[in-house]
Order: sequence, then structure tokens, then C-alpha cells
Amino acid sequence: MHSICRLPVLVCLLCASAHAKDNAKLAKLADGVYARVVSPDGEAVANAGVVVWDQSVLVFDTHFTPEGGNSLLSAIRSVTPKPVRYVVNSHWHPDHVHGNQVFASAQLIGSANARRDVMNLDLPSLNRTTRITQAQMKDLRNALAKETDPEKRRSLSEQIKNRNDYLQYASRLKISPPIIALDGNATIRDGKQDAHVLFLGAGHTDGDIALYLPAQKIVFAGGIFFNSAIPNVQDAFMLDWIQTLGRLLQLDAEKFVPGHGPVGSKKDVENFLHYLEDLKAIVAPAVERGDSLEQITRELKIPAEYSSYRFQNLFPSNVQKMYAELKAIRLQSMPQGEETESEQRAP
Ligand SMILES: [Zn+2]
Repeated sequence: MHSICRLPVLVCLLCASAHAKDNAKLAKLADGVYARVVSPDGEAVANAGVVVWDQSVLVFDTHFTPEGGNSLLSAIRSVTPKPVRYVVNSHWHPDHVHGNQVFASAQLIGSANARRDVMNLDLPSLNRTTRITQAQMKDLRNALAKETDPEKRRSLSEQIKNRNDYLQYASRLKISPPIIALDGNATIRDGKQDAHVLFLGAGHTDGDIALYLPAQKIVFAGGIFFNSAIPNVQDAFMLDWIQTLGRLLQLDAEKFVPGHGPVGSKKDVENFLHYLEDLKAIVAPAVERGDSLEQITRELKIPAEYSSYRFQNLFPSNVQKMYAELKAIRLQSMPQGEETESEQRAP
């Protein structure tokens, strides 16, 4: 697992061109409604959704790479020749939006915060990574020219190849932010059918949106819902996320398509909500005791009921994010002066 949602940019983008082709087919959820559930280790990384209407097609998220977007388009063409008129991005993370360029003639829709982050974080990150990689290529080539040891030459050549692959990948990638940037909810209507684009509150990021199809009782939840997986919380709002999942569960729906993992039921969303609630419940007493972040990260283990979840390596970051939020609340609630005393008591 190396690129679930927010990417450790240099490492993961260097891997981008090496991702295996994803041949996942569209899974039919209802007439005209499909999910493309993909491997986190392929070129697509995050799931996508497809809604085929009378005149057009709506796509929800576009995978991690232009190649992933192309494979999504091929999968769509296996079920319909209709034009893709709408693309809805669940949030700004690259594994959900870097296939956007494949759907250049569609209306690109996302939250205003997602657009902000594509412009302020994703684009600069790509440019910065490209500059770093170019500099590394120069250094590696110089080192290779001077190196005589065959083993070291082989290693240097491999590093040069990886970076060259990345630069070629970056030259193919055209980061495409949402053109229609929503501050709240919206409804897209095509013929007789409605699709509701819903902002349910902060969670995985502060710009997550879901797509709700009331007639089919289906929700494409994007980053809000990780099914049987520990979430990436790099940009998350953990306590808000608990509330947001509560609102997601209030929708009259039966099938919930996560950003990562298999298509789930309401019960699966409840399980994910319970994971976050349990995380809060085990971190809160340690915050109250004044335990240090290092201590709590070392001592807290993932509860047994979540030991089968994917991406176990993300659990320490989940603990740390929850700790930071609960600690901030605790400090705010303390009378002035007590904070210092408490901090001194902490080991
Ligand atoms: Zn994400």
C-alpha cells in the first residue's frame, strides 16, 4: 500500500508510472448505475462510480493517473456509447482526480474547498516534485559517470530509470481542478433522474462530497467512507468526521460505494463510524491523563475487531490525529495557567 488518498508525493509519484494496469470491470449496482472497485496497488488506486442517464453519463471520481482514467473510460464504453457530460470529484486527493483530464469535455464538479486544494496544494506539489526529480537526475547521472563499481552502477541506473519514468508520467499529467466549485449541495437532473451532490460536513478532508441517487438508494461516498480499511487521515477532521458519517447514515440508501474497499451496506458504514468512535474512546483517557504523544503512539494497539482492516500501517497516524484534536479541545477548556502545570506533569 503506497498511495491511498493523500500521497507521500515524491515516493508515490515515482511509483506512478510503474503501477500495474487495472482491468477492473464495472460492477452493476442498479440499472444504469455502476461502481468500479479497484486495487489500491494498480494505476487506478481509488474507486469510481458511473451513472448512465438517457442522454449522458456522469462519472464520480476518475482514479489516480491518466492511464487509470483511460481504463475507466474503456470500462464505460463497454456498457454505453453515451457522452460523459459530468465528472464529480469526491475531494481533491490525487488518487481521485488525476484521471480528470481524460474527461476534458465534461463539466467538472467539486467542492470549493476541493478546488482550492487542487490549486494550492496539488499543482504546487507536482511542480515541486518535478523540480526535485530533475535535480536528482542530474546528480545521479554525474555520480554514474564517475562510478566504476558494477553493483553501484546498476543501482544508480535503476534510480535514474525510476526518475525518468516519473518525469515522463508528470509530462502526461494535466491537473484539472473542478470548474464548477460548490459551496453547498447541488442537484444534477438528466431526464427524469436526480443525482444529489451533497456536502455532509468535514471528515476525510474539509471538502468531501458524496453523490446520492435516491431512486436507486445508492451513495457514492468517496473519501467519507473507507470500507474495512484504516483511513488516511493526513488532511482529516476526526471529530467532525464522526458527525458527518452520522449524516451519511441518515440518507435513505442501501448501497454505499467507498473511496477504498468493496461496495458496502449501511452496516459497513456503521462499522467504520464505530471504528472512529472507538479510536476516540481509547485516545481520550490518555489525553486526560496527560500522556505524551510518543507514549500513546507506542502503547495504543489497534482494537481486535479492526485487526482485519486493510492499511494497518496507518493506525499510528490515526491515533496521532485524534490525539491532536482532543488535546486542542482540552487545552481550550482549561483555565489559564493550568495548561502549563498539566504539561509539566506529562511524562
Ligand atoms: Zn483522500
